[in-house]
Amino acid sequence: TDNSTSDAKTGQGFKGHAMLAPFTPGWQTTDLDPLIIEKSEGSYVYDINGKKYLDSLAGLWCTALGGSEQRLVDAANAQLKKLPFYHSFWNRTTKPTLDLAKELLEFFTARKMAKAFFVNSGSEANDTQVKIVWYYYNALGKPNKKKFIARTKSYHGSTTIAASLSGLSPLHQKFDLPAPFVLHTDCPHYWRYHLPGETEEEFSTRLAKNLEELILKEGPETIAAFIAEPVMGAGGVILPPATYFDKIQAVVKKYDILFIADEVICAFGRLGTMFGSDKYNIKPDLVSLAKALSSGYLPIGAILVSPEIAEVIHSQSSKLGSFSHGFTYSGSPVPCAVALEALKIYKERNIVAVVNKIAPRFQDGLKAFSDSPIIGEIRGTGLILATEFADNKSPNDPFPPEWGVGAYFGAQCQKRGMLVRVAGDLIMMSPPFIISPEEVDELISIYGKALRETE
Ligand code: PLP
Repeated sequence: TDNSTSDAKTGQGFKGHAMLAPFTPGWQTTDLDPLIIEKSEGSYVYDINGKKYLDSLAGLWCTALGGSEQRLVDAANAQLKKLPFYHSFWNRTTKPTLDLAKELLEFFTARKMAKAFFVNSGSEANDTQVKIVWYYYNALGKPNKKKFIARTKSYHGSTTIAASLSGLSPLHQKFDLPAPFVLHTDCPHYWRYHLPGETEEEFSTRLAKNLEELILKEGPETIAAFIAEPVMGAGGVILPPATYFDKIQAVVKKYDILFIADEVICAFGRLGTMFGSDKYNIKPDLVSLAKALSSGYLPIGAILVSPEIAEVIHSQSSKLGSFSHGFTYSGSPVPCAVALEALKIYKERNIVAVVNKIAPRFQDGLKAFSDSPIIGEIRGTGLILATEFADNKSPNDPFPPEWGVGAYFGAQCQKRGMLVRVAGDLIMMSPPFIISPEEVDELISIYGKALRETE
């Protein structure tokens, strides 16, 4: 099929496909054939030529139950037949929407949450967080509390506000971002940023001190919220160093700053706990969810709201008439039905135990390659892991970008039937929770061969 488009002005054809592709260099979509995936089965996907790939990133960190969970398909079909769409505006809603909200509040036990608000994605969840926080402080008569603190290398999505919160420069360059109400504090990557002789605890203490200094410099009365992924995902699978979240939470609490846990990747078992907040003893005021909420089968995200914030929104919206925020598809019944089924499966199969059973095979198997002369660090927990290539085992000795070490490794994996996420010299993996021991062994074997080839 010819998918190419033509330039109306010059009459010349653009080479390549008609799609302007997200997060893809222009030359790749215009000059090269994209990998077209046609089918999925368990931990594997197949391209249009029938080639099979182990999907080590579970799509985009999302297909937690793999690519062929019939119960999710059946849940979608049943709901499509019964009621494909109805909205949740103006005191109208649907049963799956209400059931899912209730179920999510029961799932999240790191602290008591009072309400769930539905969106379509992680980006919309974080956009909505900003509006909820502003609304909350305006209602409380603290209109100066407007600024958000996020962290360098965080990823919170790519809408205008979510990209602003994100701490990755490609999301800002040429987009006039970040928006001025967003400040970025240190990335907690111990391996890369610790000082000589500094322990993890000392590193955490220094970062918490830097955060406090930033708050004091800006004026605590201007800072509304702090947002963090329990484990940073797209920024490179960066685990918090020891005592980090205890110390950070103490600082934000001291200055009446809300804590938003962006659990878009970490939730529902990925880290070997139901939520990242459970693992690191985070007591958030607000939580962002998406991805594994529906095992990636349909777009849905959610925000969990603490009782204190919910109370203020309720009383304020009684005065104003409504909480004027939401989307056509906020809580749409088909994605909600799929998410409800996913949560049911997580519960029935004790998904946290499933992850914890397979995780050591995955983590230990891959970390055994740490002594490779081209690997700086392999880091991960549960079913999430990153490999960072570097010379001399040092974060200060990156390979020249033109060598394309990460891209070469990624291509070697792909050639051998495995898809990984490549970002420069970083390789990221987050396989489906249903990955079998044999599939983990295959993943490790392909990784090993690709590594030898790259060395
Ligand atoms: N937050 C985190 C932690 C993410 O990893 C992502 C996506 O990767 C997002 C937010 C944005 O989610 P979405 O792509 O669904 O908008």
